Amino acid sequence: MIKKEYLYLAGVLNENEYYNEGSKNVNCDICNKHAGNQYVDGATKMGPWANMCLDCWKKHGVGKLGIGSGQLYDNETGQQLEGGTSSKKKISGE
Ligand SMILES: [Zn+2]
Repeated sequence: MIKKEYLYLAGVLNENEYYNEGSKNVNCDICNKHAGNQYVDGATKMGPWANMCLDCWKKHGVGKLGIGSGQLYDNETGQQLEGGTSSKKKISGE
């Protein structure tokens, strides 16, 4: 799966999509099970980003949420719950 950051940089996603909406009903990239009610799209200790169920995130995630670390999403609505920013300075630098 192509990560949102790359899509954003390529101009595929608009800012609203990037900052407020994640995927819905995702499966965990690590255990391949449905991620449950919430999932983290975040960096792993190995480096690459992944959609992770909370169990896998606790084991393989970098241990925090935030810019450059990961975001928590509601897996039913795709709404970002934690770890993002309302600022648009993250990538654009404007
Ligand atoms: Zn998992």
